[in-house]
Amino acid sequence: MSEIEQCNSRNIPLPIQREVRQRCGFGCVICGLPLYEYEHMEEWAVVKRHVADEITLLCDQHHREKTGGLLPVEVVKAANKAPFNLKEGNSKPYNLHFAGTEATIEIGSNSFTCKDNGYGTAMVPVSVDGTPLIGLILADGHLLLNLVVFDECNAPVLHIKNNQLIYSTSPWDIQLVGKKLTIREAHRKILFEIEFFPPNRVVINRGRLLRNGVEILIRPSNILVTNNSTLLRDCHAHNCYGGLIIGYHENPVGGFMALQSVPRYLGDRTEALKFEKESLQRIESYS
Ligand SMILES: [Zn+2]
Repeated sequence: MSEIEQCNSRNIPLPIQREVRQRCGFGCVICGLPLYEYEHMEEWAVVKRHVADEITLLCDQHHREKTGGLLPVEVVKAANKAPFNLKEGNSKPYNLHFAGTEATIEIGSNSFTCKDNGYGTAMVPVSVDGTPLIGLILADGHLLLNLVVFDECNAPVLHIKNNQLIYSTSPWDIQLVGKKLTIREAHRKILFEIEFFPPNRVVINRGRLLRNGVEILIRPSNILVTNNSTLLRDCHAHNCYGGLIIGYHENPVGGFMALQSVPRYLGDRTEALKFEKESLQRIESYS
């Protein structure tokens, strides 16, 4: 989280911000937009304190309406008790404007550029076994983000479909601040970081993607497929719609790198993870 954001939010301590985000379903409590500000429901000038229960999330529009007296505080408080995203189960699409005749996707120092083929043009930065883990679709002059995050047991734990953020587990921390979307698995562990540069550039800086026994790490300077230590750096492709394509695809996607056969981490990881957790608890109990 940037220092600027902290200042803008009157230095609300980070754990309180996080608690508020999760309680409000990562979006404006009125409309669900995942672009928001932290709003003190009690007059800040009067209370001068940061209490998670007294802070809510409002998008820019609803924040301005509240400040201008068009949106009564009672309505905000009622919405805070039943946030839009928690009622609907997902959030409103956030429109990422696209313009131009081609789009560029950068991922871990690699990139590909493709032409706008009209409505539904799909770009697939990372795909494994026919499942696009990251996808961007051009639709009506907007870029729509698609992201599926799987856990170590190959179960989907987060799904963003055409900018609709669908949350399946509560510990996820999702922020869209300015142009940067950050998804954290735990408090400090960044799992995914993507930046949108309208009108036609998207930069994927960080990510850990798992699928069918394949592990892909995206860092600002490279992409690493840990299974066979394939390191991708400065691979660039033009007129293509894919990035790193691993495994069999019924509908082939051209990418800057295609890995047909990658050795897989086999087996069910559930037991291994349980063992790791128990071992850790055991070690802690000795200390
Ligand atoms: Zn709103």
